[in-house]
Amino acid sequence: MMYRPAKAYLCLSALKNNLKSVQAMAPDSKVLAVIKANGYGHGIERVAHQLSGADAFGVASIDEAMLLRQKGFLHRILLLEGLFSEAEIPVVIQNRLDLVVHSQHQLNWLLNSKISSQISVWVKVDTGMHRLGFEPKELPSVISRLQNSANEFCIHIMSHFSSADEKSASAELFTQQQIDTFEDCTAAFTFNRSLANSAGIMRYPLSHYEWVRPGITLYGAGDIPGFENHGEAVMQLESEIISIKNIPAGESVGYANTWTAQRPSTIGVIAIGYGDGYPRHAPSGTPVLINGQRVPLVGRVSMDMITVDLTDLAVQPQIGDCAVLWGKELSVDEIARFSGTIGYELLCGITKRVPMIEV
Ligand code: PLP
Repeated sequence: MMYRPAKAYLCLSALKNNLKSVQAMAPDSKVLAVIKANGYGHGIERVAHQLSGADAFGVASIDEAMLLRQKGFLHRILLLEGLFSEAEIPVVIQNRLDLVVHSQHQLNWLLNSKISSQISVWVKVDTGMHRLGFEPKELPSVISRLQNSANEFCIHIMSHFSSADEKSASAELFTQQQIDTFEDCTAAFTFNRSLANSAGIMRYPLSHYEWVRPGITLYGAGDIPGFENHGEAVMQLESEIISIKNIPAGESVGYANTWTAQRPSTIGVIAIGYGDGYPRHAPSGTPVLINGQRVPLVGRVSMDMITVDLTDLAVQPQIGDCAVLWGKELSVDEIARFSGTIGYELLCGITKRVPMIEV
């Protein structure tokens, strides 16, 4: 697929630098680098290589964890959703994986199995997000069942923020309440604790505890209020202009004629579309960088192409000129906002036909 001009350039040094920034922000904490979903779409193996200075990795499935083991990574690897079935326990032991335990089901699987070696379990407590985790009041009994088991467990306690990246009085109050709840229900124990995601690391230093769990900031993305320019973008999505045409005022562009030229216009066609992971819902006006200048997307995003309005450029571009869809000068978060989504989704959504080129 190298013949098509759509390519994702990955700046590997940015991954390393972003990890160092996290380490500087949370100097007393260990770092569990979240590299699930194929390293947030960047390729889990290459991301793990660059982030090998992290103390542990967080993944979503045994498949991701085993891939890392097969590639020789000896780091601690935490399965962030824990077991999906009891049958996974032997694989967890064989691959020396850490486990989140968030439900009575998972707890029973662990307690009812005969396990010959120690397993590190991260007991997840629900401090308000109401997605995964035990009720805070259940925590003492969960801990005591683990401690009284014939199996040997190394216990940690964790929770997850729902809104640490939101700048509103209610979101900030909610996040503070999550921290308070976590502190209250864990204070009696001496286990290692973990609460902060990227936004928590930056905006709530009290949430650092022994382990922080950055994800999006490692990839140089994430709309984190007050930290807009944090981190270096790792992915730069580029393509090229493959056609330029002039249309008179009153003519429309693209499927369903959703954009009509108000003046004689120069339209550039760029080889990128939703078949590559560019958001199908990006509206007219979404910025694209042509030779370093912003121009607006016009008309609908097609599977393989988008159209942009080049009329206002002082120097008219040529066929083959570079178009940047997102990257260092145009954040993926900004593009995501135009489409009503988040940078995470766009990064994870780059499709297989886009070659990833390490720079
Ligand atoms: N911890 C857990 C349990 C997560 O599910 C995630 C990501 O979704 C993270 C940490 C990292 O979050 P972020 O990418 O916002 O830093």
